[in-house]
Formats: sequence, structure tokens, C-alpha cells
Amino acid sequence: MILRARIVVTMDGPPIENGAVAINNGEIYAVADFDHVQRLYTGRIIDLGEQALLPGLINAHCHLDYTMMRNAICPQQSFTQWIARINALKRSLDEDDYLRAIALGFDELKKWGTTTVLNIEAFPELMVRMPAPPIRTWWFYEMIDVRQRIATEEFVAGAFVFFKERPDWRGGFGLNPHAPYTASDELYRLVNECARITGMPLTTHIAESVEEDAMFRHGRGELYEFMRGLGRKMDDCGKRPSLARLIENGLVHEDWIVAHVNELDEHEFALLKNNSLHIVHCPRSHRYFSHRPFQFQRLHEAGINISLGTDSLASNDSLNLFAEMQMLQTREPWLRPEQILRTVTTNPARALRRSNELGKIAPGARADLICVPFAGDVVNVLDAVVNHEEPIRWMMVDGERAA
Ligand SMILES: [Zn+2]
Repeated sequence: MILRARIVVTMDGPPIENGAVAINNGEIYAVADFDHVQRLYTGRIIDLGEQALLPGLINAHCHLDYTMMRNAICPQQSFTQWIARINALKRSLDEDDYLRAIALGFDELKKWGTTTVLNIEAFPELMVRMPAPPIRTWWFYEMIDVRQRIATEEFVAGAFVFFKERPDWRGGFGLNPHAPYTASDELYRLVNECARITGMPLTTHIAESVEEDAMFRHGRGELYEFMRGLGRKMDDCGKRPSLARLIENGLVHEDWIVAHVNELDEHEFALLKNNSLHIVHCPRSHRYFSHRPFQFQRLHEAGINISLGTDSLASNDSLNLFAEMQMLQTREPWLRPEQILRTVTTNPARALRRSNELGKIAPGARADLICVPFAGDVVNVLDAVVNHEEPIRWMMVDGERAA
């Protein structure tokens, strides 16, 4: 199959006018100008017309379980109060509600051009009741051991069997010790050991709120009291902030995809420079919680790989990465459109250690593609893509039409 479009935005070189992509078995094997591709390759030609063809977007942090919670929680006085609200809401939902939420979440992701999602899954036991996901999905099993230990090895063995039996599920799985206030050091250690053996990706939430900072740095505050009330051992509190402690204890490192990192002191900043974690920033969820400004520029200039995520609809109003890019552009007007687009294509692909397969249009990459109407000049195409506002009408995952 050969796809032709007015402009092909490859993210692997300059945009190609009158470009074409040759695809076989879900894999891209050539991308160049149309005349060149047509001369060298045969196949059915699909002319997409006046559009920019680009890699499908990658959402690096999402909780599809909470898709039913759009506008259900108005911004609270504190992060801890939001946790209490979402926990109460979670208790009011049953398995069918969550399955519906996940299906709706996939529809919403597709609507806005997402072809890969890193989804935190709090109820992996429900996955046996799901059809194959319509887009490439990495399921990160959420792990919390405040009240009881988790049999990590059993958990991981079960996941391997599950995915082995489902070759049509595109993507894979990884682990998500939820956050340092809900997951013990022991759990982080076990998860690291599993990843070392299996190569699975890992993600966690760190330094999301001022209350988490107060809990670990000073041993006080609302989150501290809340977690103590749940019976958490608090002997790691009042010493060092969570990011510094996890990095210095070797519990998170360059293999980790870390969401948020909103609270960062100079010492932690220096640690980050030497331990290149992959960071996920969620611009609109960040605004919802009124966190202090995310230090995008400093982290970017330090060479940290930053991707974007939507977080869930419990703290956002859509799963729309275009809207996240636009919020980032408003906050960081010095960023070039290409750099912004990288935060939802090549950067998350790198965080997943899938740089050769995802986030770009290049030989050897999977044919995960979307189209954005574009009839303008090539010099403006990246800006037009970042500022796109309509639902996506054409999308391909693994060489198959998905919208
Ligand atoms: Zn999250």
C-alpha cells in the first residue's frame, strides 16, 4: 500500500511535500516524495489529498479507568482532598462501569489522534473481559502496598501468560508502583528486579504535590495525616523529599518513566541531570490542581526527555493531546512547534524504548499514522499540526484503518 499526502511530517527529517509512505504488513518500508516512491514500489495507492500525514500521537500518562469521571470532581482545596474524593467515587462504581469507562476512553483517545497510550490500570483483573484494544496500549499494572504486600512474582507471571494468549493485543505491559506514598521501597525494589529480568517498562508518580513534598521532607501535612490514618508506616517521612530518596536509593533510574515531578529542589535537579529519568508532564491536569509551575525549560535544557500525558478525566476534561500541546505552547512560548510535537511522538517512543518502531515515519517503524487537514505552506505545517482543533477523521494503527 502507498499513502500519498500533500505533506508528510516524518519527525525523522524535514516535512516532505507531495510525500508518500509505502507500507507492508503494518510496517513502513519507505517514505519519500510521491514520484520517487511510485517509481520504486508497487501497491494500491491511496491519495489522502490536502492533508498532513504524521505519526499517530503517544499519550505517555493516562488512567482510562476514570473516563466516567469527567467533571465529576471539581477542583478541591488540596490534592489530598481530591484523593479522598476519587477514592469515594471509585467505591461507587462496579466492574461494568470500569469496563465501559475504558472502552469510552479508547474512543476518546482515537477521536484525538492517539495511536499509542501508556495506561495505568488499577483493575488488571478486568482485562480478561475486554476485547483487544483498538490502539497500541501499554498496560501498567498499578501496585499499592499500604495495607498488604503484593505477590509481585505471581502478578508478573500472570501478566505474561495473559499477553502470550493474546497476540492480537498491540502494545504490552509494565508495572506501576503507584507513588512513594502508596508503594513501599520494598515494592520498588521487587519491581526493579522484575524489569531487570524481563525488560518491561516501569512508571510511577513522583513529587506531584506540595503535600507529598511536605510528607517526605518535613513529616507533616494533610497527605501525611491521611496516609498515617490508612495505617501506612511513616518511618520514611520527615527526612528527604521523595524523588531524591528514590534516586539515591537506586529505586528509580534511567529506565523509569516518571509522571509529574512538580516539586523539585536544587539538589534533586542536580540528581536528575545525572540520572536521566524520562519525565511525563500533564499540562492541563497540572493546571487543574494549580500546582506550582512545571520547570519545563530547566529540565529541557538539562537534556531530560519530557513527554506529555493527559492524566485522567478525574482531573482533565478530554483525552486530547492537541489541547495538551496547545497548553504547553501557551506556557512555554519559546518552544518551537517541532519540539512540542516531539513530546507526543519521538520523546514518549524513546521513554518506552521503542524509538525505532514508534513516534516517527521511517523505514522499520510501525504504520501508526494520522491525518490533519492542511492546505497551507510547508513552513507552517508543524505549527498547524500543534494547533489543530478538530477530531481526527483518518487514522491507521499497524497499517489498518482505525478511523
Ligand atoms: Zn496518574
